[in-house]
Amino acid sequence: MWKKFLNISLSLLILMASPLSATANSHTKNDDLLYLFKSMQILTDVPWYYLAAINQFEKNLRHPEKKKEKKSLKYLSIQIPKEVWAGILNPDPDDKNPESIKFFQGIGRDGDGDQKADWQNDTDVLYSIAVYLAMDGTGEDQIRTKLWDYYKHPVSVDVITHIAKIYQKFDTLDLDQTRFPIPLEYNYTYHNTWGDRRGWGGLRIHEGTDIFANYGTPVLSTCYGYIELIGWNRYGGWRVGIRDIRNNYHYFAHLNHFRKGLKKGDIVKPGDQIGTVGSSGYGPKGTSGKFPPHLHYGIYRFNGRNTYSFDPYPLLKKWEREAYKQKRQKKKKQKQSKSRNTIRWVD
Ligand SMILES: [Zn+2]
Repeated sequence: MWKKFLNISLSLLILMASPLSATANSHTKNDDLLYLFKSMQILTDVPWYYLAAINQFEKNLRHPEKKKEKKSLKYLSIQIPKEVWAGILNPDPDDKNPESIKFFQGIGRDGDGDQKADWQNDTDVLYSIAVYLAMDGTGEDQIRTKLWDYYKHPVSVDVITHIAKIYQKFDTLDLDQTRFPIPLEYNYTYHNTWGDRRGWGGLRIHEGTDIFANYGTPVLSTCYGYIELIGWNRYGGWRVGIRDIRNNYHYFAHLNHFRKGLKKGDIVKPGDQIGTVGSSGYGPKGTSGKFPPHLHYGIYRFNGRNTYSFDPYPLLKKWEREAYKQKRQKKKKQKQSKSRNTIRWVD
C-alpha cells in the first residue's frame, strides 16, 4: 500500500517537473495551473475541470483589495482550513505527518513524495482535495456529494459544478473575456438607474441597468458561462440567467424571444446571441407591452454565504468602450489591407 502510494507520488513529481520549472516567455501561470490539474486527473481520476473549478471558486471568494491576506501557495487559491487538514481532534493543528493526520481523520496527504503533508505545498493541497473528492467515486453525482460535505452550501455546489462545465467545454482556463450585450450597430440608450425605486410588485429597488432598444434587437451573452436559468417570471418576463467563472450571475430580463433551442445547462461564450429585446413581464405568463421595450441587465455575485446584487453600469460602460475600440481597430485593418490591395493592383 505504502509502496504503491510512493510510486504514485513519484510519477506525479516526474509529470509536473517540466512545465513548472519552465521559464519560457509565452508561458503563463494558467498554463502551469492547467498542467497541474491535468496531471492530478491522471493520478486520481478526478476530472481536471472540477479541480480547476474549486480553485477558481475559492479565488473568487478572496477579496482582491485585501492584498495583505497572506497567500500560502504558489499556484493554487484553495485554502483548506487547518482543522480539516490535520483533523479536528488533532492536538497539533500544524501537523505535517501523513500518518498522524490520517489517524485524526484529517484530509491532508503527501502528494509530492517528500513524506510530508504540507498545506503550504501546491501538489500536496491539490492531491489532498482530489483524493477527498474521489472517496466515493469520480462521477458527477459522487463528486457533487463530496462538494456538499466539504462546503455545506447548495449554491457552492452548483456554482462549482457549473464552472466545471464551462472549463470542460472550452478546455482552457483563459475564460475572462467579456462584452457589451447589445451589438453597436443597433440603436440603444441607457442611464445609471441602479437602486431606483420601482412601482410594480410592491416596494423593490432596481437591481440592474435598463438598456432601451427596439423590439427584436439581439441580446448577446456578456461572458463565458453556463445557462443556469431560462423561462418565465412575473417580474422579469422571459429571462435568462448565466453563471460565469467568477461566481457572477448575469441576469437578462423582459426578452421578446429566446434564441431557438437555448436551454438550461447550455454553455455560451461572449457575443453568443441568447435572445431579443422585448417588453415581457409584469403579469402572468405571456404578458407584454406594459412598458417600453428594453433589456434589464443585472449582476449578482455569490460570496460563499450569500448572493448579492451590484451595480452593472460601470461594467457596461467599460464593455461598450472596449467594443467601440475593437470596431475602430477592425476598420483600420480593413482600410490598410484595402490600400495594400490597390497598390498591388496598380503594380
Ligand atoms: Zn430594469
